[in-house]
Parts: sequence; structure tokens; C-alpha cells
Amino acid sequence: MQYGVSLQSYNTLGFEATAQALAEADSLLSLRRILAAGHHRFRRIIPLGGGSNVVMKPCIEGLVVRYTGRRIWQESVNEHEALWHVEAGVNWQALVEETTRGGWWGLENLALIPGSVGAAPIQNIGAYGTEIGDRIENVHVMHIADGRYEILDRTQCDFGYRHSIFKAALAGRVMIVRVVLRLGLEGKPRIDYGDLARRLSGTPGPSDIATAVADIRREKLPDPHVLGNAGSFFKNPVVPPEQAERLMTQWPGLPVWKTAQGTKLAAGWLIDQCGWKGYCDKNVGVHRQQALVLVHYGDASVNDLLEMAGRIGDSVEARFGVTLEMEPGIIGR
Ligand SMILES: Cc1cc2nc3c(=O)[nH]c(=O)nc-3n(C[C@H](O)[C@H](O)[C@H](O)COP(=O)(O)OP(=O)(O)OC[C@H]3O[C@@H](n4cnc5c(N)ncnc54)[C@H](O)[C@@H]3O)c2cc1C
Repeated sequence: MQYGVSLQSYNTLGFEATAQALAEADSLLSLRRILAAGHHRFRRIIPLGGGSNVVMKPCIEGLVVRYTGRRIWQESVNEHEALWHVEAGVNWQALVEETTRGGWWGLENLALIPGSVGAAPIQNIGAYGTEIGDRIENVHVMHIADGRYEILDRTQCDFGYRHSIFKAALAGRVMIVRVVLRLGLEGKPRIDYGDLARRLSGTPGPSDIATAVADIRREKLPDPHVLGNAGSFFKNPVVPPEQAERLMTQWPGLPVWKTAQGTKLAAGWLIDQCGWKGYCDKNVGVHRQQALVLVHYGDASVNDLLEMAGRIGDSVEARFGVTLEMEPGIIGR
């Protein structure tokens, strides 16, 4: 356990933040010990993965815990399908590469999303028309309060758009230690999203699709190693169909997607219409090509970023009557 640890390199926005303490566990035994010791000494225990979906404030009271186990193994279901057991500490992109190169279908559209496997179920990571929840068989967790081990199947996880039970009833209450994914050696390309189909020819396999997705993402999104960011800063708002109809009549260019929960509006478009794209002040700003991505140019205050995010939300609300919700969570004070 380390005390007074800088977490600047543990958050992709790159804000300076100091954790009261940080501990890493690479096995269930060490995790259980760390949690037990942590309860005696700290008021809070905070799970952390790669820090690509958090906004860190300067002072993080409590014990930050990372599960770094990186074991991967397969359980055969039949000759075409296997359950991939993947520990939470595995890097997400490394898993996408390993599975797609081996000819396994399922993760190809989710290429180049930063972060760890353990965090993937939390907001049900999604991209290019797919979500990880569709592939999850179950999620193994350890309860932070008492070290209890539990396996939640897909229905218990309550996956939705950027949502799961881990962002609701179980938020901050469990450490995800393993994710079990059902992948297949036979699959259908899902390339009817954005300009993916244009990049591919013939009969693309999972590895071709993953490479194309990664290429597009590199062109469109800032690399967090170069420019601090947390990907999409706001969720795409989901509104009732009648409200969407009214907005589309008034704003014919508004991109929308119909979903089971309602009509999803492109938050980036709403923000762009309010004139924020490329905005910069006090070393924080809105990315020049992607209005949904807020960026940190270095040595800025996290409060300036949050204050700007608040003003962006206010302007979208005033113009369109739509409320934006932040996607990353805030840690610390
Ligand atoms: C450039 C960029 C592009 C992105 N693109 C996408 C995208 O296309 N789609 C998408 O869905 N997301 C995207 N994201 C967001 C982010 O990459 C994902 O949400 C990712 O799953 C976060 O992983 P992480 O390990 O960095 O989690 P962290 O940021 O470390 O943690 C996120 C949350 O999960 C909790 N947590 C982390 N690990 C565990 C664990 N093992 N057990 C319990 N709780 C845990 C943390 O407490 C925190 O609340 C993007 C981010 C960036 C920077």
C-alpha cells in the first residue's frame, strides 16, 4: 500500500490528483486482504481501472484499489463457441486484438476503447452499433464491504445504454474481478454504422473490422497520451419520440437513432450547434473535430473543466430543452 500517491498518470484527462492511499491486487486473496485492511484504516474504498472514464479532483480521500490480475482462459462451449474468462486487469484493446486475431467474433466493433476489462461492463461500453453487454455471459465481483464473492449473470447486470447495475445499485460497492464473454468462431459483420462499410471490402473477418474501427477512431478522436481527454464527456440524451419529432421538425439536420428506451439524440451535434466546437479557455476546451470530447491542454484546474461542462449543458438546455448528462464519474473533492 502506498500513501499520498499522485494519480496524474492514472487518469487520461491528466489532472493532478493525490490519493490518500493506493493499493494493487493481482489475486483474489490479496484483494480480500487489501479490502479487509482498508476498512479499518480508510473511510472509503474506490475501485479504479485505467482512469479513462473518470474526472479526478485534487484530493481523493480513501483507499484507491486497482485489480491487476491479467489471466485469460477459454472454456469451450461447442466447436464454434467459447466462454472467454478474462480477469479485470487485462487491457481492453489487448483483449480485442487477441480475440479478433484468433478469428473470434464479438469484440471487433469495440476496438481501441481505452481502459481495462474490469471497467467495460460498468457503463456497458459501446461503439459502432454494438455493446459489450450483448457478449457478456456473467461478471464476477467481490463485495467491498465483506469480501463476498458473487457471480452476476447478464440479466442481473441490467445493461442499457451506458448503464448497468454497477452504475446503479452496486455503484462503488463491488470490485469486478472477472468478466466472462461468449465469443464465436462464426459471426456476421456489423458494419452498417458510420463509414465502417466504406473502409472494408470483400468478406471482412473480425480482425479486418477491428483494424478499420481502430483506424477511424485514430482519425476522429484525440489520443489521450497526446491530449488529455475522457472520450465522450456527455451521454447522447434519450428523449420521448414526440419530443424528438418536434426537435427534428425545428432542426432537420439533427442526427437521431431510435432505441427501445426512446429516441437517442447526437449530443455532439447539439453542442456543436451551440458554437462550442474548438472553444478553449484556461487550458481546457472542446475538441476541434469532436464537440462531445472535452480536452485538457495541461496544467489546468479540473474545476475549470467542470465549470465549462456546466456552461455547455446550460446552453444546450436553453436552446433545445434537452438535458445533458455527464458520462465520466467524478472522484475526489
Ligand atoms: C479516447 C477515449 C475514447 C473512448 N471511447 C469510448 C467508447 O467508444 N465507448 C465507451 O463506452 N467508452 C469510451 N470511452 C470511455 C472509457 O474508455 C470506458 O468507459 C472504459 O471502459 C473505462 O475503463 P477504465 O479501466 O479506464 O475505467 P476507469 O476510468 O478507471 O473507471 C471507470 C469507473 O469504473 C469504476 N471501476 C473501474 N474498474 C473497476 C473494477 N474493476 N471494479 C469496479 N469498479 C471499477 C471506477 O471506480 C469508475 O467509477 C473512451 C475514453 C477515451 C479516453
